[in-house]
Amino acid sequence: MIGYDEVPDYEIKRQIVEVAKMMNRKGLVGTYEGNISVRKKGKVYETPTMQSKELLTEGKIICVDMNGEQLEGELKPTSETPMHTKCYTLRNDIHAVVHCHAPHCTAFAQAGQDYVDMASPEFQILFGRVPCLGYGTPGSPDIIDELPNYIAEFDVVFLAQHGVLAVGETPLEAYSKIMSVEMLLQTYFTRKMLFPESMCDLPACEIEALMKIRESNRKG
Ligand SMILES: [Zn+2]
Repeated sequence: MIGYDEVPDYEIKRQIVEVAKMMNRKGLVGTYEGNISVRKKGKVYETPTMQSKELLTEGKIICVDMNGEQLEGELKPTSETPMHTKCYTLRNDIHAVVHCHAPHCTAFAQAGQDYVDMASPEFQILFGRVPCLGYGTPGSPDIIDELPNYIAEFDVVFLAQHGVLAVGETPLEAYSKIMSVEMLLQTYFTRKMLFPESMCDLPACEIEALMKIRESNRKG
């Protein structure tokens, strides 16, 4: 899909609700956590603040402009709206942003750690690195200070002490990237627990070959 300009509003809202319920089912969000948005021209459709993802409906989706001013909907926008609009100003090619507190991603974020896994071919092909941005108070402008340094290059980033954010062409794509990192981190965690002394890294020549696959996938 290239953009949402011709997609009806009801379909955008349906996609946001579908992904919200998937995130809830997979345990990526607490009751009031996480947010999902879609950009259509100069409008951003998003999940409202303080609403259960499990009980979300299309009628609860709100709409703001690129300055965060509310255009549609009864419920209030999330305080993390500037994080979403900032991603859209930095990336013309993306139309959806998903943010949540997926447990393994958030553990890395709270430790201020980048995620790099030299033992997993899948991680190397799909991501290469998930960087952790510096801390900003949730909902404050400083949370987005470092986005310009990373979001042009990385589709998934950790937000220090806080959670994870992903961008994509659709909310399903952005969600799937977070789910993928979360699953890879589960394996990483289990491997480190069971085999703390084992050297599992792939050889450098193999990492280089996988990096080339990643780069050609990105261009394609
Ligand atoms: Zn958050």
